[in-house]
Amino acid sequence: MTSPGELRRRTLETVSRPSYSISRSDMVLLNDNANLFGTNPAVAEVADRFDFTRLWAYPSENSDSLRSRIASEFGVSTEEVIVGNGSDELLDMASKCFLDPGDKFCSPSPTFGMYRFYARVNLATIREKLLRPDYSLDSAEILSERAKLTAVCQPNNPTANLFGRDEVVRILNESCGAVVLDEAYSDFSGSNMLKDAMSAPCTMDIRTFSKAYGLAGLRAGFAIARKEMVDELRRVRTPFGLNSFTEAVAARALDHKNWVKDVVSRMKVERSYLDGRMKALGFLTRPSECNFLIAKCPVKGPDLVASLRTKGVAVRDCSMFPMMEDFIRVSIGPRPMMDRFLAEVEPLVQGVGR
Ligand code: PMP
Repeated sequence: MTSPGELRRRTLETVSRPSYSISRSDMVLLNDNANLFGTNPAVAEVADRFDFTRLWAYPSENSDSLRSRIASEFGVSTEEVIVGNGSDELLDMASKCFLDPGDKFCSPSPTFGMYRFYARVNLATIREKLLRPDYSLDSAEILSERAKLTAVCQPNNPTANLFGRDEVVRILNESCGAVVLDEAYSDFSGSNMLKDAMSAPCTMDIRTFSKAYGLAGLRAGFAIARKEMVDELRRVRTPFGLNSFTEAVAARALDHKNWVKDVVSRMKVERSYLDGRMKALGFLTRPSECNFLIAKCPVKGPDLVASLRTKGVAVRDCSMFPMMEDFIRVSIGPRPMMDRFLAEVEPLVQGVGR
């Protein structure tokens, strides 16, 4: 019989974390869906009045002022909010909290790769259920696994679409375990399933300040869930998980709705510009509800991504995902970035596939 230590060692040997690092600082970063339209004005405002001489002191253990600001913003109580160092930390907490070795973790596939990573680190058994060929979600398939933890990304990264609301609601309501509902990109799609999450028995609705809020470098995310679930998650949370500057900026960022609205509408203009230009180059783009476009390349996707890197443009290679062979994912940014990408990609696909 395999000892728990041996099981852990063997499993961790097979775990590989998706790599995000790009070595060149002059790269155009169209690979990680950060907010390429800029940094939230809350950073400069808070920096102006923040008492940096008090950084000798610990922040509040559970980021109470940010939690209470989030609670008032979303119409829930402070006890129903938990914050993390990026929403990634909340995904980590969910896996630590709800998965014991051998437990089943289930998600649709393709989806955000970090769900699988955290589940593997916690020695869970991974059950990924393919989306339908049109990337729609089959809730019956997911529910049939009776997993201890299920993750659903709405809208979904990397396929860029919103799943049918009824399918998602069914998963929230009928799962026999806990559910992570990841709404990282909902500010772009205008969707919001918080009410559904709060009326389901065991769902955490995860949000981030890294995308539309323009604060990826600050690392702040949060989850809203019923108090009992937040209490469970808190058992595995690092105390003082958010630094005090981040806490103050994230709270202030919630006041900048017009800035976020403006980013979202500018992003949509650039997304449809890029869509048209890529189609003309022979890419098969898919409809997107997010701040990125996915497209099947008229040439080998991994080769295209590698060539673009040598030219200083980073895009995401999606070929490792099922149903996405030769797909790339391109984050949307201001026109000069889109034109730089187009100028570099055009000679690489010239005369192919049209
Ligand atoms: N969820 C999804 C679907 C994402 O795409 C990302 C980042 N790419 C995250 C969560 C994590 O974001 P962060 O840790 O920056 O909040």
